[in-house]
Amino acid sequence: MALLYKSTRGDKNYITASQAILKGIADDGGLYVPCSIPKADFKLEDIVDMSYKELAYEVLKLILDDFTEEELKACINGAYDEKFDTPAIAPLRLTQDCGVLELFHGKTIAFKDMALSILPYLLKTSAKKNGEDRTIVILTATSGDTGKAALEGFADVEGTGIIVFFPQDGVSDVQRMQMITQEGKNTCVAGIKGNFDDAQTAVKKAFTNKALKAELAEEGYVFSSANSINIGRLAPQIVYYFYAYARMVKAGKINCGDKIDFVVPTGNFGNILAGYYAREMGLPVNKLVCASNENKVLFDFFETGKYDVNREFILTSSPSMDILISSNLERLLYHLSGSTEVVKGLMDNLSSKGVYDFSAKGSGFVGEYSTEEETFAAIKDVYEKEGYVLDTHTAVAYSAYKKYLKKTNDKTPAVVVSTASPYKFARDVLTAIDSKYSGMDPFEAVRALSEVSETNIPAPIKDIDKRPVLHNFCIERENIEEFIKERLAK
Ligand SMILES: *Cc1c(COP(=O)(O)O)cnc(C)c1O
Repeated sequence: MALLYKSTRGDKNYITASQAILKGIADDGGLYVPCSIPKADFKLEDIVDMSYKELAYEVLKLILDDFTEEELKACINGAYDEKFDTPAIAPLRLTQDCGVLELFHGKTIAFKDMALSILPYLLKTSAKKNGEDRTIVILTATSGDTGKAALEGFADVEGTGIIVFFPQDGVSDVQRMQMITQEGKNTCVAGIKGNFDDAQTAVKKAFTNKALKAELAEEGYVFSSANSINIGRLAPQIVYYFYAYARMVKAGKINCGDKIDFVVPTGNFGNILAGYYAREMGLPVNKLVCASNENKVLFDFFETGKYDVNREFILTSSPSMDILISSNLERLLYHLSGSTEVVKGLMDNLSSKGVYDFSAKGSGFVGEYSTEEETFAAIKDVYEKEGYVLDTHTAVAYSAYKKYLKKTNDKTPAVVVSTASPYKFARDVLTAIDSKYSGMDPFEAVRALSEVSETNIPAPIKDIDKRPVLHNFCIERENIEEFIKERLAK
C-alpha cells in the first residue's frame, strides 16, 4: 500500500509522494502531509555506523515510498557527494554543554543545502515517474539563503531551469555576490527594485497567472517552486535528526534508546518540523526546543496558545529567522488536531485577522527566544570558552537552550542544530566578539574571521568579491512576467 499525501485544508485529492513533490502546494492552498507518518523499520543499533547516504536511504524510502530503490539511491548519490566539504555531510561537534550539528558544509554554507541539494533530483525523478516531460522552471523569490541554495541545487540539472528574484537592496553584500556570480547555463538571477515583499508578491503573481502559464506550456515549460512548503524539502531534513542521534551514540554521549533534546533556530518552522517527523517515526526525542529571535511569534504561541502576527517586524542579525508567518506550522496544527476542518478555520482566521488560538500543550515542543544582546553574548561566550565561533542563527538557539536549562533544569543530553557558517555573517559574529569590528567592510570581515577563528575561509565564499558578475539584471516588478518570457525564449 502506497503512502498517500493529502492537503492540510481538506481537499479530497489524495496523491503519492512524487505527485506531491511535483505539485508543491495543494489546490486549496493547503500543504501536503502524509496520511499517516510511517514508523522506522530499522533498529537504532543498525544506524549507528551508517554513512549519511546509507541512512538517507533508510529514512527516505519510508516517507517517499513510491520511489524505487534505484531511483532513490540515484537521487541520494547525486546530492550528497563532494559538493559537501566533508564526507560526514553533517558533522556533529561536541562542546562542553551539548552537541552541535553542523548543517553548513554544503555549497552555500547554510542548512538550506541539506534539502536543496537533493530536491532537483527528486523533482526530476517525480516528473519522469508521472509522465511530465516539459522543462521544469523554478521561480523563487528570496531574502538571501534560499535563492542561492536553490541556484546551486538546480544549476546545470538537465530538464530544469531556475530564475531567482531578490530585492535589490534587501540582501547582504555577501548574499548578493553569492547570487550574481552564479554559474550554470540554466540559471538566471535578477534584482527587483523594492523590498522582499515586493519581490515575493511579483513572483506569486507570475506563478498564478493562467495566461502566462498557458503560453509557456505551449513552449514546453511548467513552473514549480523550491520553497519549504514542498514536501520534497521537508523529507530530506528528517534524515539528519537520525544521523545526529547516531553520532551522539557513537561519541558515547548516549546509549541507543536514550532520549535527547533538539534545539532548533526557527523561522518558517520547516527544520524543526522535520525533527517532529523523526520523533513520530520512532526516534527517541524528549523535547523539541523551538528557538526564535526577537520576532518571537512562536515563543508566544507555545507559551500562550495564541498565534498573533499583529506586531512590529524586527530586523535582527539573524535575518533568515526574521519572519512572522511560519508557514510549516500549518502541518503541525494538522498532525496535532487530526482535523483538516480545524486547520482550515485557523488559517482563515490567520489571513483575515492575523491571529488564531490553538493549544499545543503536550506536543513536546517548547518555545524559547533570544534577544540580540543575548545572542551576541552567546557568540562571545562560546568563542572565549572553546575558540569555536557560532553564527548568529545558531547562537540564537544556543542562547535559548541556556535559558531553557535555567528554567527547567532538564538533564537530557541535547543537540543544538547549527544552520549557517559564521562566515556568512562574518561582521556580526566578529562584532559580538569585539566591538572594534563593527564598521568593517563585509568582505574584509570574512578574511578577519579566518584569523580570529583560526579556520579556513570556506571555498564557496573565498574571494567572492573578486569573482566575475554573471547576472546583471535589475528590473521593475511590473516587468517580471515579460522578463521571464524573454529569458525562457533564449
Ligand atoms: C532558513 C534558515 C533558518 C530557519 O529555518 P526554518 O526551516 O525556516 O525554520 C535558520 N537559520 C538559517 C541560517 C536559515 O537559512
